[in-house]
Amino acid sequence: MRPVTKGNAPNIYANYQDAASDLQSCIGEFCSYCERHIETHLAVEHIQAKTHVPALRNSWINFLLACVNCNSKKGRKKIILDNYLWPDIDNTLMAFEYSTGGLVKVNTTVPASIQVLAMSTIKLVGLDNEPGNPDIKSRPTKKDRRWLRRQQVWQLAEECKNKLIANNTIEVRELIVSNAVGRGMFSIWWTVFNGDQDMRERLRVAFIGTAADCFDHNENLINRVGGKI
Ligand SMILES: [Zn+2]
Repeated sequence: MRPVTKGNAPNIYANYQDAASDLQSCIGEFCSYCERHIETHLAVEHIQAKTHVPALRNSWINFLLACVNCNSKKGRKKIILDNYLWPDIDNTLMAFEYSTGGLVKVNTTVPASIQVLAMSTIKLVGLDNEPGNPDIKSRPTKKDRRWLRRQQVWQLAEECKNKLIANNTIEVRELIVSNAVGRGMFSIWWTVFNGDQDMRERLRVAFIGTAADCFDHNENLINRVGGKI
C-alpha cells in the first residue's frame, strides 16, 4: 500500500465531494488502498465513516480516495484508527509484501504488533480477496477484479523489467515509469524493481503524493515519523 502525503487542506469544503479533485491533485488518481489507477468514479473516502463521526464529514484529515470495491468492502464499519495502518499516516509500504502474481500479504519481518494491524487492514478492504484464497469468504465477488488487475500489473512490470535488462536506456526507464503511472499499483512496480535504485526513485517521484519521508537516500524504506511503522 503506497504511503502518501496529502499535505494541508487546500480548501475548506462545504461538501466532501468537492474535495475529490484536490485529492487527485495531491495523491494522484489512485485508490488509496488497492492502488489501481482509476479515471472515473474514484470516490472521496472517509477514513472514519461519516455516520459514526459526523464532525469529520467534510474534513480533509479524514479523506482518502477509494475505488468502488475498496469503498464497499470497507463500508460503514466503525473505525478505531489505531487498529489499522493508514497510507497517510504510516509507512504502509513497509508493512505489506507483494509477491508473484500480485498477491498481498503481511510483511513477516516487521514487529508482531504491526503484523496484526497490517492483517486487519488487509481484511478491512479485502486486499486478500482472490480466487485462490482457501477461505471461501475471502474470495472475490464477480464485480471485484482487483486481484486480476494486480496479477496483470505484476506480469507487465516483470516484462518491463526484462525489456530494461535488454535495453537499459533512460528512454526505456521513462517509458516504463509513465506506463506504471497509467496503470497504478505503485507497490507492485516498486517491488518488481527491487535492486534498481534509479527506477525506484523514478517511480516514487512520478507517483504524485508518495510520502518521501518513508524512504531514505538509497530508496530503502524507513519508519515514518508519527506513524506506527
Ligand atoms: Zn481500491
